[in-house]
Amino acid sequence: MNPFDLTRNRYADLHVHTNFSDGTFSPEKVVDTAVEKGLSAIAISDHDCVDAIGPAIKHARKISLEIIPATELTVIKDGKEIHVLAYFISWKEKRFRDVLKGIQEGRLRRLDKMLEKLKKFGINLKKSRVIEIAFSKGSVGRLHLAKALLEAKAVSSIQEAFNKYIGDFKPCYVEEVGFRAEEVIEVISRAGGVPVLAHPKTIGDDSLVSEFIKLGVRGIEAYHTDQSYTQSKKYEKMAKDHGLIVTGGSDCHGMGKGRVLLGGVKVPYSVVEQLKQEAEKIRPI
Ligand code: AMP
Ligand code: ZN
Ligand code: FE
Ligand code: FE
Repeated sequence: MNPFDLTRNRYADLHVHTNFSDGTFSPEKVVDTAVEKGLSAIAISDHDCVDAIGPAIKHARKISLEIIPATELTVIKDGKEIHVLAYFISWKEKRFRDVLKGIQEGRLRRLDKMLEKLKKFGINLKKSRVIEIAFSKGSVGRLHLAKALLEAKAVSSIQEAFNKYIGDFKPCYVEEVGFRAEEVIEVISRAGGVPVLAHPKTIGDDSLVSEFIKLGVRGIEAYHTDQSYTQSKKYEKMAKDHGLIVTGGSDCHGMGKGRVLLGGVKVPYSVVEQLKQEAEKIRPI
């Protein structure tokens, strides 16, 4: 080991949400928490939204924390939602921001449809309340709706909301306005980002993981809160066998998943450098 390697003992959590999507912490609170956890870098990776990146960078400027601009996009495939992370994305680019704006509007139309379906189960929720729970900004999603269901005592837990009503293929589920698998890599690359397949275990079908490798993801999120050690090792091997970057992150949603996950999964800082090198290939700096 190189004793002069300054990246040693430096760690990054490459999957973090804020209250601009379905996390409960503001970008500033996320930054402060990351510093408390001793992290050197975090990727702000909200669903279909890059609006938290600016405030996070501004707040982190005075502290020694690096913010990696990112977002988590959704691919709809065979009725399933598959997530793809985009690192070092050109988050200020107007064309890319417009694409995200379209998706956020689609999310509100999707909310209308889910609320309609819930009515058939005798559950009447106000759209405005769900939007309030989503802090009236960014991406409105199912975690917000699950919270509204819990608040209205229609369910006794967030998990029950997903299991009974709004989980994939459940009766009140409506597909997100997502990308086609072939499309997502192109959209990310066009905006200078590095596409990485998020939490492959949740796809529940490794042949789809292989398909995304063929389509051109540049990394696999082998390490994730919901992936066991054995699963992580399996996806790490899959990534290495294909010359892809092995990434990882906690997928912290503030208190959105019941506890603060930030820093619970982290990768050596060298992974950030690999992502940077890859981004430079896509968009020469
Ligand atoms: P959306 O982007 O609106 O489809 O919502 C995705 C969010 O819902 C992510 O934060 C997921 O972690 C969460 N989610 C999806 N399915 C479940 C589930 N079965 N249980 C708990 N959370 C879920
Ligand atoms: Zn989420
Ligand atoms: Fe995800
Ligand atoms: Fe996520």
